[in-house]
Amino acid sequence: MAEEYDFDVVVVGAGFAGLYALHKFRDELHLNVRVYEAGDGVGGTWFWNRYPGARCDSESYYYCYSFSPELAQEWEWSGRYPEQPEIERYLNHVADRFELRRDIQLSTRVTAAAFDDEATRWTIRTDRGDTVTARFLVTAVGCLSAPNVPDIPGLDDFAGDVYFTAKWPREPVDFTGQRVGLVGTGSSGIQATPEIAAQAAHLTVFQRTPNFSIPARHKAFLSEDQAKIKDGYDEIFALTRESFAGFPFHPVDRKTMSVPEDERQAILDGLWEEGGFKFLWGGFVDLTRDPEANEIASEYIRNKIRETVKDPETAELLCPKGYPYGAKRPPIDTDYYETFNRDNVTLVDVSAAPIEAITPTGLRTMTAEYELDALVFATGFDAMTGALTRMDIRGTGGVALADAWSDGPRTYLGLQVAGFPNLFTITGPGSPSVLLNMPVAIEQHVDWIAECIEYLREHGCSRIEATEAAQEAWAEHVAEVGEASLFARANSWYVGANIPGKPRVVMPYAGGQPMYRERCEAVRDAGYEGFVLDGAAR
Ligand code: NAP
Repeated sequence: MAEEYDFDVVVVGAGFAGLYALHKFRDELHLNVRVYEAGDGVGGTWFWNRYPGARCDSESYYYCYSFSPELAQEWEWSGRYPEQPEIERYLNHVADRFELRRDIQLSTRVTAAAFDDEATRWTIRTDRGDTVTARFLVTAVGCLSAPNVPDIPGLDDFAGDVYFTAKWPREPVDFTGQRVGLVGTGSSGIQATPEIAAQAAHLTVFQRTPNFSIPARHKAFLSEDQAKIKDGYDEIFALTRESFAGFPFHPVDRKTMSVPEDERQAILDGLWEEGGFKFLWGGFVDLTRDPEANEIASEYIRNKIRETVKDPETAELLCPKGYPYGAKRPPIDTDYYETFNRDNVTLVDVSAAPIEAITPTGLRTMTAEYELDALVFATGFDAMTGALTRMDIRGTGGVALADAWSDGPRTYLGLQVAGFPNLFTITGPGSPSVLLNMPVAIEQHVDWIAECIEYLREHGCSRIEATEAAQEAWAEHVAEVGEASLFARANSWYVGANIPGKPRVVMPYAGGQPMYRERCEAVRDAGYEGFVLDGAAR
């Protein structure tokens, strides 16, 4: 039955962010909270992305919550990079352990939210017919959750099965004996390729832009690894909160050109053997800043691809050119390049000959037709803004968030939007979000929002809204730092380039965690500078 209730806080989403927000607001602030979640289970991105090979590419012992030392001590990670089912289990454990389920309504998508200026309340509507009100609306919708379904003619006429990595079915998919086509070679496609190739009769990978992928080098943990991690958690979590990107390491202070060539090669070899994201910042400090340094690392990766892939033509097609390593979110993989040595795998370059149509029996490019039994789209997301603008969120004067952001997202600290009082956006655009280890970014935002709500309560305030001036100044700073960063130099979801017509803006804040945290804390310490509280600007 449809509900009509009034809450202190409505949270949208029950992934990493929504679960912690519920715990924090309900159990520490003693607020009356309701979480709506579209999925029929908790987990957010780790609920939906259950495609073959889905595995976290940050390491388990720091891609987790730090807010509860007891939770950290009792949970055992099985290895370096947990697979999707293990993270989903972890998040279900969190939901049970903190008794969160009773305040989460599953299988319910928030479709609209409108701010009532007079009542100082949000009215929230769901696809189940609920209409509820809340003093605060907190979005915990994830940065990579609104799937990008490419507009390819004929998709509906395909006779075989169509899958999206971003909303993979719960029931296992069996590709045995099938000719499978996979579109997309970002992190998802790169993880799914070896797994599907091992099962299918034939896999055709349709690649538009090659990626620089580094071996993950996954390994299972031994009990002594687990004990060492648990003993070190205090230090690990302290480091994740102070380092540039939320990892428990500081980048080395060594420039690429400061070491002789043989030593440089040895350092890169070491990083390649170690595997993972560390390749970008664990050897040299300047890969993200100095084009010459970046090109050395980029060419190193290309040479590894050429060494691994036996067919020189395929190898060359897999070598990224024309953009620097790290400008697109770097994937890490298990046997991705090796998979192209299999007899049952073909790589098709759809930048040279674009996809024209899906036919009832397959896929047609400008130059050839491919017969397929199943199609897998690993085509990514309308990142950072899509999950927010696809909801009909309306602020003061009935202005839609989608309209307010028609030239690109503008926020104050990625936490609030001028004209949308009492709306908080966890890991919103304009905050470090996807450029940080996500659980760290999430915890920092939830803690900041909780402190802010507590402050309002202590000061008898019921309303907070970012000023236009503070938002403009912050948006300018985000743009300036973003334009100067590596991320401006490739067509990626970081800049909205994967979605036709989306304004090109570096959406996450690229200034790093330390500067961002300091700024958030300074704003708080100044009594929420840049915000208007109950009609009075601070
Ligand atoms: P993505 O990085 O945006 O990659 C999408 C791929 O689809 C790209 O290769 C893109 O080509 C291609 N594509 C899109 N539309 C197309 C079209 N119409 N025709 C042909 N090709 C098309 O998406 P993703 O792989 O899902 O990854 C998104 C992000 O999610 C990652 O960067 C990462 O942050 C996160 N992620 C994390 C993990 C993990 O932790 N394990 C795993 C998966 C994803 P272009 O490059 O030419 O646009």
